[in-house]
Amino acid sequence: MSTPTDFPQMLRSAALRVTGPRVAVLGAVHANPHADTDTIIGAVRVALPTVSHQAVYDCLGALTTAGLIRRIQPAGSLARYEARVGDNHHHVVCRSCGAVADVDCAVGHAPCLTASDDGGFLIEEAEVIYWGTCPACARAAEADAAPLAPTA
Ligand SMILES: [Zn+2]
Ligand SMILES: [Zn+2]
Repeated sequence: MSTPTDFPQMLRSAALRVTGPRVAVLGAVHANPHADTDTIIGAVRVALPTVSHQAVYDCLGALTTAGLIRRIQPAGSLARYEARVGDNHHHVVCRSCGAVADVDCAVGHAPCLTASDDGGFLIEEAEVIYWGTCPACARAAEADAAPLAPTA
């Protein structure tokens, strides 16, 4: 799944003007799934050292509105961005360290969950967050709980 991505072409097909910061931000989100804004700014500055925070925020907003990237914001977490759009996938979030991973749709296509009562709304999407403990944190907790190994 490492087909080279033509970011300028993606911008054009979303009717966005191709600018250096937009190409760099789109590339940074592709390279850093579920990254927060600071991480994206850091990645963009590798290519464009003088880009401002505001320019990156503006690009993230424009790319999100155009549907090229998706913004997720688990409760109590910073906003994060990802390039995997359009498949209505869900996220699992670690309560300890905030790690985020993708979870495929429960059923297959949006909205993958049927509301028991839609209140008359036309429902397009279900956003589900699974909360739990990531493998690294689970291992750390296990190690903490384990009795000290006898020294041989
Ligand atoms: Zn964790
Ligand atoms: Zn995701």
